Amino acid sequence: MAWMKLGQVEIGRAVESNGPFISIYDFFPDATPEILAPHRAWLEPAALEPGTDKLVMPIQSYVVRTPQHVVLVDSCVGNHKSVKWFPAWDQMSGNTYLPALAALGLGPQDIDVVLCTHLHVDHSGWNTQWLDGRWRPTFPKARYMLSRTEVAACEKLHRERQDPTYAENVLPIIEAGQAVLVDDDHQIDDYVWLEATPGHTHGHCAVRIDGRGGDAVVTGDLIHSPIQCRYPEWNFRHDANKPLAAQTRRSFLERYCDCATHVLTAHFPLPSAGAVKREGDAFRFDYWEKGRFI
Ligand SMILES: [Zn+2]
Repeated sequence: MAWMKLGQVEIGRAVESNGPFISIYDFFPDATPEILAPHRAWLEPAALEPGTDKLVMPIQSYVVRTPQHVVLVDSCVGNHKSVKWFPAWDQMSGNTYLPALAALGLGPQDIDVVLCTHLHVDHSGWNTQWLDGRWRPTFPKARYMLSRTEVAACEKLHRERQDPTYAENVLPIIEAGQAVLVDDDHQIDDYVWLEATPGHTHGHCAVRIDGRGGDAVVTGDLIHSPIQCRYPEWNFRHDANKPLAAQTRRSFLERYCDCATHVLTAHFPLPSAGAVKREGDAFRFDYWEKGRFI
């Protein structure tokens, strides 16, 4: 694994898994075979599995090494977590994630700050690991800087719908005294800060990076697939506030199109990173050339 230099900051990634996820028609209720037909040439096979029409999605973290901190952005699915709605993630016992961090030269003790763009299970799983009969923070020295809006929404899902994510991925961090609840525009250090991007979840945040010599933004799940550059109003079936999610997505694409900002997505096919370009009344995504970044 390699690091990409952006001025005084370096960015790396740790991939937990990569492969076909679920049908694009289940994921985006607006998708139809007719609408997809002219886009298959650029979607298949990297973003869309031919034959099954499943979206191909990596699950990954970005790591930002600033002169002040090592910041982990999103922590994938994790092991031994309860994910009843997606059996492949339920009670996982994989051995890819911590080795991927190790390939960047990082052990769990090297992470200073953990950020979660939001608290869905594929972005908060490795916040904790099951050790000696209980959930413990995976990163023993880290401050987990979590949006107070997002934590409140996650706790509400736990209370009202028995969603296990809060109990498995959030509460153990609070009980360990490692959680810092922050506003949705919180400045982490001189190089990294949060940018409120609500809609997918109520406290969803993008992560902005200014390396003084290059800048980037980590999208989290405000956008899931490059097809949403062409159709920014396409919502994920379970976006929490759909009109707001669509508005956030379009304004994000407007804000970062045709500029030098590197856009680091969570779930676009690897290399998942590139630039947003205007195309007609919407956008397209130009991936970085292979080899530029891990
Ligand atoms: Zn996600």
